[in-house]
This record gives sequence, C-alpha cells and structure tokens, in this order.
Amino acid sequence: MTTSTARLHYLSFRQSHDYRGGCSKVMMNKRPPLASSSGRRKLRYSSSNGCSCSAASSNVEFDYVSTSNENTINTTNDFTPSRGNAIVVGAGPAGALTAMSLARAGFQVDVFERRGPSSRLPSQGLVNTGVASSRTYNIVLNQRGVAALRMHGVDVDSFGVKLAGSVRHEQKGFKRPLRNPFFLFNLKKRTKIGNVTSRSTNAFSGSISINRSVLAAEIQKAAIERYPTQITFHYNKQILDVPGGTSIDLKSKKVVFERFEGEDTCPFLSEDEDPNETRRYDLLVGADGVNSEVRRAMEIFHDQTFTVKKHVDGMQYKSVTLPVIGGWIGEEAAEKWKKSFHTWPRGLNSLLAPPNPDGTLSGVVILPSLAISKNAKWSWDNITAPQEVQKMFTELFPNAFGGMLPPQISTSLANQKPANGGTTLFCSHLAMPESNVVLVGDAGHAVWPSLGQGANVALESAACLGIALEEIEDTKEAIETFDKLRKPQTDACGRLSMAGFGGTTNRTAASFWFVLRVSTLMILSKLIPASKVPIIGFAPPAIFNLGSPDYTYDEIERTMRIEGLRLSFMVVSFFVLLGLSFYYGGMQPLVKKSLAWFLSGRFFGGGA
Ligand SMILES: Cc1cc2nc3c(=O)[nH]c(=O)nc-3n(C[C@H](O)[C@H](O)[C@H](O)COP(=O)(O)OP(=O)(O)OC[C@H]3O[C@@H](n4cnc5c(N)ncnc54)[C@H](O)[C@@H]3O)c2cc1C
Repeated sequence: MTTSTARLHYLSFRQSHDYRGGCSKVMMNKRPPLASSSGRRKLRYSSSNGCSCSAASSNVEFDYVSTSNENTINTTNDFTPSRGNAIVVGAGPAGALTAMSLARAGFQVDVFERRGPSSRLPSQGLVNTGVASSRTYNIVLNQRGVAALRMHGVDVDSFGVKLAGSVRHEQKGFKRPLRNPFFLFNLKKRTKIGNVTSRSTNAFSGSISINRSVLAAEIQKAAIERYPTQITFHYNKQILDVPGGTSIDLKSKKVVFERFEGEDTCPFLSEDEDPNETRRYDLLVGADGVNSEVRRAMEIFHDQTFTVKKHVDGMQYKSVTLPVIGGWIGEEAAEKWKKSFHTWPRGLNSLLAPPNPDGTLSGVVILPSLAISKNAKWSWDNITAPQEVQKMFTELFPNAFGGMLPPQISTSLANQKPANGGTTLFCSHLAMPESNVVLVGDAGHAVWPSLGQGANVALESAACLGIALEEIEDTKEAIETFDKLRKPQTDACGRLSMAGFGGTTNRTAASFWFVLRVSTLMILSKLIPASKVPIIGFAPPAIFNLGSPDYTYDEIERTMRIEGLRLSFMVVSFFVLLGLSFYYGGMQPLVKKSLAWFLSGRFFGGGA
C-alpha cells in the first residue's frame, strides 16, 4: 500500500494500525512532504526511538515528535499559505480543530464564531456560584477524541480530568429494565444514604471529563499559538440572518457575516467596526453545530441532490454546577468520587455530572418535553418556579447537594431556557465538491448523546478532513474523498447512538432489548470466552469498543449485527430442541445427557 493510500484509509479508520500503533509509521517515517513537488518546504521528522529524517526546502518546518505509544505533533510554521482562503463557521471543538487541520494543509483560515472568546468558562465564576449558562456542560472524551486532538499537538490531559470511574446514585422506587450492563461486573463499593444507593464502578476510567467551552477555548488557543499568521478567529460574528433565506452564496462562493448581539457578546469589541462584511472563500466549512446555517444553504442550493434526515429525541436539558459530593464516604473514597462521572438515572429523568478539576461537578438535568411525554410528572415545560425545582431535586436527586438546594441555584435553573438535547442527523453528503463546501461535527452528523460520541466523532472528522486535504492536492477531489470515506462512519455512529442507551423512542431511558442483548453477551463472554473456546466462544460485546479508535464505527455495527444473529440462532435452536424433545419423548434422555455433559465442565476442557 502506498503511503497516500495508507493515510486515506485512516479516513474510514478501517486500518486500525494506521491510526494508533502504526500511526508513527504513517505519520512520521513514511509521511510524504506536503506538496513536495513545489520544493518549497522543509520537513523534519523525529521520534523518541531515534528515527529522524529531513528533506530540504526553504520556508516551512514541521516537527513530528513521538513517544512509543502516544503521538504528539509539534508544528512550527512560517510559510505562506498556498492553498487559498478557507472560511470555517463555528469555533466549537469541531470548528477549532478543523481550522488547525486546514492550516496544516496549506490554507489561510478565517473562523467566524457567534459567541465571545472563551465565554462562560467555569474559571470565570461558574463553579463558585453554581449558576451555569444553558450552553455549558461537561463532556466525556474517549480515546477517539483524544487521539484526534493529539494529532494536532493538543494535549487534553493537561486541562481535562482523567476519570477514575463512575458513581451511579440509584433510588428505590425507580424501575429500570435491567441494570446497565456496563456496570454489571465491576461494582466496587456501595454507599447507602436514605433511599439512595451510590455505587462506585470502574466504568469510564481513563476517559477525560472536560467542559465543552473549555475544550473549544483550549483548541482555539493552540490554533493561535501554532499558526499565528494563518488562522484568525473573528468572535461575535455570525452568518447574516435572512429570514426564510440564506446569506451564503454557494455559486459565487461568498458569505455575509453580521455582528452577533447575544448574552455572550464580548464587551471589548469596538462598536464602530463595520457590522456586516462580505467574505469570499475557496473552501467553506460548516462547523456551526446542529442548527447549521451552512447546511441550510446546502439544502437551498442543492435541493435535488442534498437531503437531510433529522431524528429529534424530545429531551430537554438545563445546566447546573454541583458542589463536591460524598463528604460522608471517607477520605480515600471521596478522592475517587472527585474524579468520577456521577449519574442519577431516574427513568426518563436524569442528572448526569462529569467532574471539574476542583472536584465540583458540571451537570445537566435532562427531562422529557411534554410533546413526547404528555403526562410526565417532571418536564422543563412545566417547571417554572424555583420551588418546583427544589421539589424535583428533593424527590429525584436528594443527595446531589447534600441537603437543600441553594436558593440561587433553584432560581437560576427555573430561569434558564431549556436546550434541546437529542438530535441525530443523516445528511445525504458531508461535502458538495461543486460548491467547495464541507460539513464537520454536529453540523453534518449530530448524534444523540446516549453513547457520548458527539464530540468524539466530531473531532475525528476534523482530523480526517485535514488528512484528505493534505494527501490530495485538488481540493474538490479531497473533499469528495472525505465524503465518500467518512460518511459511512458518521452514519454508523448515528445509528448506534439511536439504538443505544437513552432516547425516548421506547419511552424509557434505556432500550430494553439493547440492554438485554448487551447483558446476555457479557454473561456469555464470561461463561464461554472466545479466547478459550474458539469458533463457538463469545467475545465481550462489540459496543464496548466504541471509544477505541482501533475499531471503525461500521465495523462495530457489523459485529453487533452478527452478535444479534448468533443470539437469535441460539434462542431459536433452544426452543426447537425443547419442542422436539417433548414431541419425541425419546429425545429427553439425549437432552438430559447433553445438559449433564455441559454442566460437568468437560465442555470447557475441565471436569472429571
Ligand atoms: C447534554 C449533552 C451532553 C453531551 N455529552 C457528550 C459526551 O459526553 N461526549 C461527547 O463526545 N459528546 C457529548 N455531547 C455532544 C457534544 O457536545 C457535541 O457533539 C459537540 O459539542 C459538537 O461540536 P461542534 O463543534 O460540532 O458543535 P458545537 O459544539 O455546537 O459548536 C458549534 C459552534 O458554532 C457556533 N455557531 C452556531 N451558529 C453559528 C453561526 N450562524 N455563525 C457563527 N457561529 C455559529 C456556536 O456558537 C458554537 O460555538 C453532549 C451534548 C449534550 C447536549
């Protein structure tokens, strides 16, 4: 396989060795110089295992520094961009990382962001007051997101919290179909206070908890530091709002931006600057979130070829910052709790709260809207007074504040506008090459937060787009390849998120069949492990590999289909055998004998 082909495979993450273990091979030793034919660039590759090589040129220098397992890229860059102007709309996690990808591929990049710089960070007082903006919440990044960030030298370990595990606060009287299988075999400790039992587990250990706004701000900071002359962030600027139309002209490749006057408007921007500006682009990237204006323009201009399917879940959330909890469990356990992802599952209602570096928790209270659950006792549609918030916490999450909810928090929660939490999008394309426009992140492939993949798949896509543009010189061809190879992955991620935990399609926060299937597979993988019993043995459920960049989303989906078929076959065979044994009484001894042999342990190679 040539290097280019190897790197393009990374787009679909089919060749896992290209991504992790083999990342050093592809990214360092064999990585071809960017536009090497021009002879303008100098590339130097070095690694801790001593590999180092260089190619002469005049005005650019990239350093690829790798330790044995972790691949970090330090890039210093002083060359003139040759690829043209790129506009990125949105400076969330996907937009900010895309800006770095495009700069590395040789573009001059302008990023337009509706909000102010680094707005609403916990360090700006949120944690102390407990009052949160509805747009700030903590997310959990798995190895997919972490690896994509590392490709651009963003070390999330230095500003996120490495999770030690999770704590489930369960309450008597709330029925769930089955215990969440992720927690079945790794329960560590139970603590009972009133009718709430808190169970500490190892689930999520090794993942990173980070505030979404902090993550975006840190990537923006890294982008400015690394590409000071190539990337410019324009804050408080949004695409000019044209009711019923669009101010993006995909034919003449122009966008009009206006000043955004919102709650996050940055006060130090000068008032006399031109409120509207028209920009031309060679490449337009829509990273403007789930309600993307860029996507809407694509629907208007390409109404025959570009279509969008939207699945809205109807769950609504508000944000809240919780104090350090668990003072009652002893010092050692409390240290673990400070670094744990806390969850309060209550049927359709839940409180999910990953930790901040100081041990406080940034949580979201998720309730169904009345549109999807007419008779819901608790819904943000009918909780309007602080007293009602207080009542809800007392009934559903009594230990979250270790007593009464502070009045400023119940007031803030009552006043906050609820945000819609669950949308899964399937676009017919992630790119329209004829218009030089691409969608990245929630703008092109938002997923329900049920499996915690949204930011991870978004960051992966940002990294993938960069690789396509680096490997393929022709921009149209590059984004077409990105669309072709990346879309099957983002679609599979969307389908998996809709099948997984969460969602209200089954009127329960966890789909009964999904949980039953995963639990059964977990039990079978312990009883008949594939490692000991080849061919008929069971591996742990494929869904457990969701956070690993070694597995593609469509591989996981395919394996889950095979798992489902095997389970169905087992169930059908069991009933056929049972039926036959009763129909032909003579078969009963055979069934009994088989069972006795199976239970004697000889099946597993043991027994007498
Ligand atoms: C409650 C909740 C919990 C979640 N938990 C997780 C989790 O644990 N793990 C995980 O991986 N994912 C999680 N997600 C999903 C994750 O937050 C998103 O997938 C991720 O933020 C997507 O990043 P993005 O950059 O594509 O979009 P966004 O983060 O939405 O950023 C889009 C940016 O574009 C800007 N913008 C929008 N319109 C315009 C415009 N017209 N002009 C200019 N700028 C504009 C916005 O201001 C924003 O900054 C969660 C989501 C929710 C709601």
